[in-house]
Amino acid sequence: MTASKNISKREFIKASFFGGCGFCMAASGLNALAGSSFGNDSLSHLAENGALPQDTPWKWSTPALYFVDTPKGIKCKLCPQKCEIEPGKAGDCRTNVNYNGVLYSISYGNPCAVHIDPVEKKPLLHYLPGTKAYSIATAGCNLACLNCQNWEISQSSPKDTRNYDLMPEAVVAEARKAGCRSIAYTYSDPVAFYEYTLDTSTLARQEGIKNLLISAGYINPDPLRRLCKVIDAANIDLKSFSDEIYEMLNAGTLQPVLDTLKILKDEGVWLEITNLVVPTWTDDMDMIKRMCDWLVENELHMFPLHFSRFYPMHKLTYLPESPVATLEKARQIALNAGIKYSYIGNVPGTKAENTSCPHCKKLLLERKGYVILQNNMTQNRCSYCNETIDGVWE
Ligand code: SF4
Repeated sequence: MTASKNISKREFIKASFFGGCGFCMAASGLNALAGSSFGNDSLSHLAENGALPQDTPWKWSTPALYFVDTPKGIKCKLCPQKCEIEPGKAGDCRTNVNYNGVLYSISYGNPCAVHIDPVEKKPLLHYLPGTKAYSIATAGCNLACLNCQNWEISQSSPKDTRNYDLMPEAVVAEARKAGCRSIAYTYSDPVAFYEYTLDTSTLARQEGIKNLLISAGYINPDPLRRLCKVIDAANIDLKSFSDEIYEMLNAGTLQPVLDTLKILKDEGVWLEITNLVVPTWTDDMDMIKRMCDWLVENELHMFPLHFSRFYPMHKLTYLPESPVATLEKARQIALNAGIKYSYIGNVPGTKAENTSCPHCKKLLLERKGYVILQNNMTQNRCSYCNETIDGVWE
């Protein structure tokens, strides 16, 4: 059972006309059959929470890293939901379960979605452009957005999806075999498969493969800082700039996400930020202006800000798509506020997916979807005026 505060947020959404699910980044229905099991005894962090008991809650499981005992059971310390979990129950994310007084992650090594994506799809437009990212997700999510693009997996337990059997060593080997420069932890939310992400990233880093965190950023500072040691780039959803909207639309709160953005910068992780513009929910231009001002005030203005088009999804199918004019207005507000690079996503053919030099304004990277048609950069600089362009180019 979870903390009453969290139950009320979720129950509000469940009881509402709309229902609930988080904004995720992948298509749904991408599952695969599970294969044979692997042992978990090679995991570096097992010692931190004691030996793995003989009987585990699920074939793919590992002790969670962040929890404390309470008189009622276990309190999970991984994310701001602060779930208190009674024996035999799972937290809000559905992936952390109290089994015999130990918190286990049951999303370890069994992703339900595995794809090879262009890094631009994450979206990461200033990070190794034109490279491929080996992309994985498990079932589960610690938020519950009404507009989730991938609710079939994000609002499920790993026990309910058809999964690959892919331990960290196998993920790294497959990524290398496929010629991917990076591994992306994506689609649902890597906070729901934190231990899997951490161990896979650690191995990948040793093998020279980059790690991309594609997340809502709803995680506590300590586990985030630990993960940052092996993460190279992140795209974080900043879903709105209102606590009230976060509670109603996403079953979360705003401040932890703002803290995440600052920590990622502080830890030297390349960052891009996505704001999904949902009609009637997050399309208030005054709020978008406040969000952009906050990013500038906190010296996050050199990180690209993506305004993403909403398509009717899950519990918000009664809403229209975001008008392109609204996205263009939001982008202009961002640029006027001092954000150096702002893009529009999910609008095929828009010129706002191109990169221009913030100094001389000339076109540097012309894109069509995920393909780069023209490149007028010399290494990390504008070929016309020699301005340094923020990002990781090679
Ligand atoms: S990670 Fe899961 S179990 Fe832990 S606090 Fe967050 S939602 Fe609850």
